[in-house]
Amino acid sequence: MHCRLCDSVRLVSVLDLGATPPCEKFLTEIELDEPETTYPLHLRICQDCLLLQIPALITPDETFTEYAYFASYSDSWVRHAKTFVDHAVTQLDLDAQSLLVEVASNDGYLLQHAVAAGIPCLGIEPSVNVGAAARERGVPTTTGFLDEELAAKIRAEYGPADLVVANNVYAHVPDLIGFTRALRELLADDGWLTIEVHHALNLVRHGQFDTVYHEHFQYYTLLSAQYALATGGLTVVDVELLPTHGGSLRLWVRPDGVAQPSPRIARVLAIEAQAGLHTADGYSGLRSRAEVVRHDLLRYLLACRAGGKRVAGYGAPGKGNTLLNYCGIRPDLLSYTVDRNPYKQGRYTPGTRIPIHPPEHLDADRPDVVLALPWNLEAELTSQLRHIRDWGAHLVFPMPTLHPAVFTDSGDAR
Ligand SMILES: [Zn+2]
Repeated sequence: MHCRLCDSVRLVSVLDLGATPPCEKFLTEIELDEPETTYPLHLRICQDCLLLQIPALITPDETFTEYAYFASYSDSWVRHAKTFVDHAVTQLDLDAQSLLVEVASNDGYLLQHAVAAGIPCLGIEPSVNVGAAARERGVPTTTGFLDEELAAKIRAEYGPADLVVANNVYAHVPDLIGFTRALRELLADDGWLTIEVHHALNLVRHGQFDTVYHEHFQYYTLLSAQYALATGGLTVVDVELLPTHGGSLRLWVRPDGVAQPSPRIARVLAIEAQAGLHTADGYSGLRSRAEVVRHDLLRYLLACRAGGKRVAGYGAPGKGNTLLNYCGIRPDLLSYTVDRNPYKQGRYTPGTRIPIHPPEHLDADRPDVVLALPWNLEAELTSQLRHIRDWGAHLVFPMPTLHPAVFTDSGDAR
């Protein structure tokens, strides 16, 4: 096995999560009677370049041709995107002559704000059904996987981009070096690229092992992201630490030699070094953190079952499927979950085969306990689900360690 960034063979095991199906492969009722393919989910670190990675066993077209994730189903995510676009338009002086390109533009959750602001834009989205939803809301969208060929074609047709946005996609590309070159190809020589990606600092520090799944091929520190981007002639000139997805990096990137790096870069690198992430040994605590989550959650669900309490889930995110599969939770312990995404409703979670209903089902059924699977939305869900107290239900979150939601009477989650 070779490191996909530096080709080293010195990869060491960090966490073995067993064999699981791709986490977005929700099953229809008919598929319940068909074979279901699983792949080993084994996180390793490269001792040479420190890229945290899993083997690329699935190809992106298996995942993305009909993708189940519509970003617009999260209110907080759409707000986050609007704030970002407003800020970028002001900071980078974008106007009706500019070009904004978003890679993995999903259902237009972000570019709709560029359209509203009169900024010419183009989305690149591999999933046919998700890209169609973007076009329906008036966001120009090309269907395809970004590679060097597509980047050259877009540049020839639309010109170089003043801003390229690549949010929550840089982890999803198995051909990391080719993808990085494609990003550079899209970009004007004095342009900007922003990348948001989950920060491995939080993965390790808070034991967020369920962010590891087949669709995420690599997990970045600022240090390993700098190294990856350098392969395409790109320099990280500034960095922000964001609370999204349990802690993300927002990288501000430009072609080599255009700008001096901000002092914030040295500060974030120092935080990572302090946390031990600039040595391969610094990742070794993740395994015991994951075991604690598994044991605590199983103990709790078994106690609920023994006490006659009915437990339902809230949400069916990709990370929930890593958690459910790794913990071995099936409908005897979690009878169903609910999700706002109509695509998932009526389907079953991959591997664990837990039925997914619309959210209204929760109010009709009134379970005793609701287990929230998208723990990164704790504040939003605590506020959204406060009415379950009316029938005496408890809301619990499994991460970073199992804990109940704290409802406040003002209506806002704390
Ligand atoms: Zn490497």
